[in-house]
Amino acid sequence: MPATNIEDLIALCKRRGFIFQSSEIYGGTQGLYDYGPLGVELKNNIKNSWWKSIVYERDDVEGLDAAILTKQSVLKYSGHEETFTDPLVDCKSCGERFRADQVPDYCKKEDLTEPRQFNLMFKTNIGPVDDGKTFAYLRPETAQQIFTNFKNVVDSTSRNVPFGIAQIGKAFRNEITLKSFIFRVREFEQMELEFFVVPGTDEDWHKKWVELRINWWEKQGVPKKSLELYEVPKDELAHYSKATVDIMYKFPHGVEELEGIANRTDFDLGSHSKNQDELSLKSKVSENNESNAKLALKDENNNWMVPFVIEPSAGVDRAILAILNEAYHLEKIEDKERVVLKLKPHLSPIKAAIIPLKKNDEKIVAKAKEIKNKLQSLGMGRVLFENSGNIGKNYRRHDEIGTPICITIDFETLEEETVTVRDRDTMSQKRVSINDLEEVFKDLF
Ligand code: ATP
Repeated sequence: MPATNIEDLIALCKRRGFIFQSSEIYGGTQGLYDYGPLGVELKNNIKNSWWKSIVYERDDVEGLDAAILTKQSVLKYSGHEETFTDPLVDCKSCGERFRADQVPDYCKKEDLTEPRQFNLMFKTNIGPVDDGKTFAYLRPETAQQIFTNFKNVVDSTSRNVPFGIAQIGKAFRNEITLKSFIFRVREFEQMELEFFVVPGTDEDWHKKWVELRINWWEKQGVPKKSLELYEVPKDELAHYSKATVDIMYKFPHGVEELEGIANRTDFDLGSHSKNQDELSLKSKVSENNESNAKLALKDENNNWMVPFVIEPSAGVDRAILAILNEAYHLEKIEDKERVVLKLKPHLSPIKAAIIPLKKNDEKIVAKAKEIKNKLQSLGMGRVLFENSGNIGKNYRRHDEIGTPICITIDFETLEEETVTVRDRDTMSQKRVSINDLEEVFKDLF
């Protein structure tokens, strides 16, 4: 059963080193979190799993890693300067500010100002002179630099539609109302794919990507029964979208968006392109006299064609919250409680713990280190040589952090070349020959 309240998860994340409040020793900053020793491993594993399924296991997607600081023109023509806003209200009685549609119950809502639009983008200065003109934005989504690099990627890879460009990276939003731990924060990571298709085939591709993404979430341990699809109503669609389907998840605080899958039409390539009047654009874009590139392809009749874009956009931090929530189990064994994170092994921060039964026996310790190095060299992720605490405490800790197996080295190991392998989920133990250990370990993934 998943965690029933967010407090259980927050406590586990802090206690075991997954997630800390940022700048905690100075009182913390709202909406900013730091990922600790285990959090960084979990995060990397989720990102690797996405990258593997989107880039490596397909033959029609290229990767990209673009700059975070973004030139003003990019976010002017993308529409973000004008429309990436939330309605802000002030409460004159409690003195706080809220997003107009998210005023919490503790506010009496009696003395609220009229909503005014607040732009969510962070600005920063480029270069030593702060003249108000040479600024850049911290990107509010990773997508835009994919569009501005469209021609670079096409020219350097000879790609033609349908094909995609994927990127994982930080995004920044000066959110007015923060929510539920890492659910809504001001600095977060996104895993975004812009998949370019022939106009007219966009609706089919949109459906296909919704299906593919749900399958991926299932493989990460977020079952279909915890997900809902939400078709965003026409009057709530973002300025670039023809249709958006949100994958919603039952977070501990309620059902909310985990990933958005939008049909962005030809809006973005069209907006960033020069010579727009030669492109027969379907969407309404602002005139662009600053771009020096035509972001279009030639079709089979040698006419310019601007591909439509399907965009599956998932938040890494929300993925972490959903995956931890699903993995969290509180079990009663006889009269004792056990917390266990039943993470899919490919996501576990530690893949195996190697535990010498006697921490001060040179031969046992040397053998344990030898086994650790051997399993580590297989490249499946972090294998930990566990040299503190007693065996009971070691098992408890590794259950709580989701380590799929613990391998214990004892005197028998030295005599018979066997080890004890304990399974996290069943807690069953079996004796395995060191010669077979590599296979037993690899079979987990
Ligand atoms: P919401 O309305 O819930 O704030 P959104 O519709 O603005 O989300 P998108 O612009 O579609 O979000 O961004 C794509 C994904 O990026 C979201 O599905 C979510 O997983 C993630 N994301 C967006 N904003 C945040 C945030 N402030 N903190 C954490 N993750 C975020």
